[in-house]
Amino acid sequence: MKPAVKVAITGAAGNIAYSLIFQIASGNMLGKDQPVILQLIEIPPAIGALEGVVMELDDCAFPLLKKIIATSDINAGFEDVDYALLVGARPRSKGMERKDLLLGNAEIFSAQGKTLNAVAKRDVKVLVVGNPANTNALITLHNAPDIAPTQFTAMTRLDHQRTLSQLSAKLEVAHTRIHRVAIWGNHSATQYPDVFHTLIDDKPVIEQLDMDWVENQLIPDVQTRGAAIINARGASSAASAAVAATLHIHDWALEGAQRDDWVSMGIKSNGDYGIDDDLIFSFPLLCHDGAYRVVQGLEINDFSEQRIRLTEKELIEERDAVRHLL
Ligand code: NDP
Repeated sequence: MKPAVKVAITGAAGNIAYSLIFQIASGNMLGKDQPVILQLIEIPPAIGALEGVVMELDDCAFPLLKKIIATSDINAGFEDVDYALLVGARPRSKGMERKDLLLGNAEIFSAQGKTLNAVAKRDVKVLVVGNPANTNALITLHNAPDIAPTQFTAMTRLDHQRTLSQLSAKLEVAHTRIHRVAIWGNHSATQYPDVFHTLIDDKPVIEQLDMDWVENQLIPDVQTRGAAIINARGASSAASAAVAATLHIHDWALEGAQRDDWVSMGIKSNGDYGIDDDLIFSFPLLCHDGAYRVVQGLEINDFSEQRIRLTEKELIEERDAVRHLL
């Protein structure tokens, strides 16, 4: 049996975590042979609810789940962790300006970055889900100077899966035959789902699509899918976000050589495709043996270039609003 790895989750009594924790405990994220210790973190008012989640976890008697820590102390919660899933974030309340949301979260994530820097494993893999996820991840990274910037990521995998699913429905082909989807930029309505490099088997998908559908349906549908789910369900996309987080870590940490398809993740830009190098920006990536690299050499046409620049501009504005915490 492998030694257990430690996984911290913030916002552990929230909706996304309510699915995510059970995915992890059943081995869907890190493998069916990987024991886990869950370090569940909540703010003090939610500790009572978190105790209920712990009772449910106990009741499942998951063979892989070796220990559960439930705490509101982030030092204890991040102690020695191999993975940190930062899901909790201040919700957007009525009348709140975007800048207030950015600032409120910036304080939370700068404290979490400092604590990770002090107590987490040096090769901890960090996934930020709490919104605004890219900028929250950038703040976390800046506050953790002793951990490599490659270890900080933001989730755009749900947007990636949504694009796959829309293409599969439109073209009536199994999504397992569709490869090389890319999400560029921010996890927000400016994100750019790019299908110009996408293949069905080995044929370019774009040859089978009408550009009007791509521009006026696919792209806006993916960009605003979260709002459509809130309208339909009366609550935000929690289960699918949890599955996407599971896939994000699974492919980054585990899949290694078996996966030769692209994934999308917000990562620290290093200037690829001319993107400002102080942003967490979603790129198409290949994962290999616990690391990732940006897919190189893609031809970016004018249509894509315009949209990539737009989402970059939004991220620069978000960064400028929290500059003092970087
Ligand atoms: P959820 O679990 O539903 O969502 C958590 C975060 O994930 C939100 O910021 C949400 O953004 C974001 N998110 C990112 N991608 C998606 C997606 N595709 N679909 C839906 N959400 C997405 O929120 P809850 O309010 O249920 O739970 C949050 C928990 O966090 C609470 O239990 C609370 O106590 C805790 N919390 C912790 C804080 C801390 O650690 N200091 C601070 C504040 C709260 P969006 O809001 O845009 O939907």
